[in-house]
Parts: sequence; structure tokens; C-alpha cells
Amino acid sequence: MTEDGCIFCKIARKEIPAKLVGENALAIAFWDVSPRQPLHILVIPKVHYANVAELTLNDEASLVAVMKLGSELALEFAEESFRFSFNTGAAAGQTVFHAHGHLTSRTPRGELA
Ligand code: AMP
Ligand code: ZN
Repeated sequence: MTEDGCIFCKIARKEIPAKLVGENALAIAFWDVSPRQPLHILVIPKVHYANVAELTLNDEASLVAVMKLGSELALEFAEESFRFSFNTGAAAGQTVFHAHGHLTSRTPRGELA
């Protein structure tokens, strides 16, 4: 999947709705539509990269933006313990081929949005 028709590009451009939870100049975060843990947020670069390796090797500024936003949201929404993980490749469970970090926690802090 290239940028054309990429659902996460459309969310980043705010062309289709998502429950946004945070944003900075180069990254945007929204609640996973099908949460697998009590806290489940996706953090994506606004620019399209197929996976975290492509993001890391081509665009350090966007990588840092994704990691910063994920870290800020982890401190805001997770009670100390969390995971920030990037499925990469179909065999690893990647289904949307626009790089995205899953911020998950079994111990969210207070009321979630
Ligand atoms: P992955 O399997 O690592 O590629 O993760 C893709 C994630 O995107 C899954 O957890 C889906 O539930 C989530 N997802 C897919 N479409 C949307 C959407 N429109 N809004 C929010 N989350 C989505
Ligand atoms: Zn995309």
C-alpha cells in the first residue's frame, strides 16, 4: 500500500474521522478502533512510511516526533507501565502499512477519553 488509499494518511490529513488524542508538528495520535488492552493508542508519523524501519532510516525528525508524542501520552495515560511497539511485516501482525506505534497498557491512569 502506497500513500494512495492509505487509511492512516487519510486520518493524518483529517479526511476521515478518528478519535484524536494528541498531535505535534510531525506526528498524530488516535485511539485504536479495536482496543486490545485497556489503553490502546496508535501514534503515526504524518508523512507516509510503510513501517518503522522505513521511518527510522529516512526521517529522524518524524521518528523523534512519534517517540515524543508516544512518551507524552504514556506519561499522561498509563500508570507507570506501558508498551510502545511497532508490528513490522505481515508475518509480525502488521495490517496497516503506514508506520504506527501501539501504545498499550494494562494499567491506565484514571478515566480514559
Ligand atoms: P497493525 O495490526 O499493527 O497493523 O495495527 C493496525 C491497528 O490499526 C489495529 O490495532 C486496528 O484496530 C487499528 N485500526 C485500523 N483502522 C483504524 C481506524 N480507522 N481508526 C483507528 N484504528 C484503526
Ligand atoms: Zn499512509
